Amino acid sequence: MSIEIKPDVSPKSISNVKDAAQAVERLRNAIRFHNYRYYVLDSPMIADAEYDAMMQDLIELETRFPTLLTPDSPTQRVGGAARAELGLVTHPIPMLSLKTVYEKSDVISFDENCRRELGVGSVEYVAEPKFDGLAVELVYENGRLVMASTRGDGQTGEDITPNIKTLNEVPLVLLSVDGVVVPLRLVVRGEVFMRIEGFMELNRRRSEAGESLFANPRNAAAGSLRQLDPSISASRPLHIFLYEIADISGKEIETQWELLHTLQSWGLKTNIEESRFCHGTSELFRYHQDMYEKRDHLQYEIDGVVYKVNDRTSHERLGFRSRDPRWAIAYKFRPREATTRLLDIKVQVGRTGKLTPVAVLEPVVVGGVEVSRASLHNQSEIDRRDIRIGDTVLVKRAGDVIPQVEGPIGDQRDGSERIFHMPSECPVCGSDVVMSEDKKTTVCPNMNCPAQLRERLIHFASKQGMDIEGLGDKRVEQLVRAGLVTSFHSLYRLKKEDLMSLERYGDLSADTLLSQIEGSKKQPLWRFLNALGIPHVGEHMAQVLANNFRTIEKLMHASEQQLQSVSQVGPEVSRAVIEFFVDKYNHAEIEALINAGLRFVEIVKEEGKQPFEGLTFVFTGTLERWTREEAEQLVVDMGGHAASAVSKNTSYVVAGPNAGSKLAKAKTLGVTVISEDEFAAMIEKRASSGAAA
Ligand SMILES: [Zn+2]
Repeated sequence: MSIEIKPDVSPKSISNVKDAAQAVERLRNAIRFHNYRYYVLDSPMIADAEYDAMMQDLIELETRFPTLLTPDSPTQRVGGAARAELGLVTHPIPMLSLKTVYEKSDVISFDENCRRELGVGSVEYVAEPKFDGLAVELVYENGRLVMASTRGDGQTGEDITPNIKTLNEVPLVLLSVDGVVVPLRLVVRGEVFMRIEGFMELNRRRSEAGESLFANPRNAAAGSLRQLDPSISASRPLHIFLYEIADISGKEIETQWELLHTLQSWGLKTNIEESRFCHGTSELFRYHQDMYEKRDHLQYEIDGVVYKVNDRTSHERLGFRSRDPRWAIAYKFRPREATTRLLDIKVQVGRTGKLTPVAVLEPVVVGGVEVSRASLHNQSEIDRRDIRIGDTVLVKRAGDVIPQVEGPIGDQRDGSERIFHMPSECPVCGSDVVMSEDKKTTVCPNMNCPAQLRERLIHFASKQGMDIEGLGDKRVEQLVRAGLVTSFHSLYRLKKEDLMSLERYGDLSADTLLSQIEGSKKQPLWRFLNALGIPHVGEHMAQVLANNFRTIEKLMHASEQQLQSVSQVGPEVSRAVIEFFVDKYNHAEIEALINAGLRFVEIVKEEGKQPFEGLTFVFTGTLERWTREEAEQLVVDMGGHAASAVSKNTSYVVAGPNAGSKLAKAKTLGVTVISEDEFAAMIEKRASSGAAA
């Protein structure tokens, strides 16, 4: 097959389906080839923009000539609706797992057995990394990907074809790069995995979005692939290595080494780079040692190595022992774990106020690294694993992750062990801490807690908070470090000479910052509420609370019931708000801020249209949330008009219980009547959309 690197195709000049079909074929071949260069070989031959242009040309032609669109087109990687469930697939040949060993002696007997059975003095092996991912099987017929499945129980796996198609490394159509004939049928196996970097980034994003985290890259890969909606798989950084052929017709492959190279020439990604020819056990052990030393420097996780007899024709002769093939073996790395004594549990306060228990261990070497501290996550985990101070515990280390205490070793207790309880006061500032009901999170609510001050101040001054333009991360850091700012309100006591004593401040920059701080004293209430950093209260919720409670005093004294009567406030928010204001330090700080001159202005007239501009409201009956005057003021604040009598110019009549003649009049005039709740919802909706504009 000759491949054009850059087919000279001009979609505009193509007017009939025959020419289009030819052009489409040329574009697809070129794109498939460049996918292979880019994703499989990591060696692109053209610029990204040129590739994108080809893709655009192809999409244009497929759009104009829809009959040419086929499922194996490079444009069709992400497609199809979410499914109700992953279907089941029976593997053409059972997908067995390799025998796993941890001891050198087992490798020696594996080699002895191979030599004896094959009647040779020395066997040639191919050694490969053992990837820590999800085993999959791909089936190609006439060079086209027709099925992809997970290992499942070895006999039956799950159909993940639409998900696998989203991996750019998986060719939808096999290539014939070095003139190697594409087989009529190919059942190829390998491992889907996530690189460590991609895994960390995914977890970082999930953490920001408040979603649960994946425990390790393998779980992340499995969870990402086994999705009912393939577009989720497409959004995850998944990769694949292929390493085994279960069935093939139309092509003979004699050795494992040839197999790896042949797969690659069909456009399938292999890991030849880290694979090695080995003769005899000393070379096998050398490879194991080399990969062990390398594992922390690889982009992906491996948990051992695999040895395969290179000559594939002898695989049949060696056959199987019960369920394991006798021509291959997995030699795993020793788990990175050790036992030691848990001397104490210390509590750290993170920058966001979260209290984390940390194990203080008798120093022990785990996987070549001395460990004396390990994470214990939270009270719930400690309870679940029944970890006590004084226990002999099992410590594990995976990759570069912080070591973790797995649990106590049974039967080692002598009665002197102590049960751990999270402190009721913050170890840094002494504030009463707040523990969630499930005991999974404990936080120090004090906004001035020194452990958290820096992060909280950055948030306080941010654009969504008090909007103090000149006060970014670096300057906050500098002020806190110099001890010039020890609380929120001390920000408002800064003097010019304080700033001038710091590096990187001149006359002008000091004046500018001070005037920006001064300027932030008059802000709408919602900005202040957002700036406080109350858990679960972000920009939008701050607006909802500000619109409903109007003053900081009312909000500070609001009961749970009052808070929850606001339509968008759930139990989580109301609890967080109450716990925040109940903290005596926070209470004092807010008073200090008000004494420092903070005034919360009513919703300022923003540029452009006001939320209630052109609308006239009439109130009747009893209101629960506001007095009549407050409600009318609200309407005015939002640019509307509050009238006392209903006329045909009235936009809305807000009717509470015991509404009288005004309600009747509204009905005769056909004026829209709404409840107090509907009015509140209207305010929330309009205020937030107005503020966001
Ligand atoms: Zn604290």
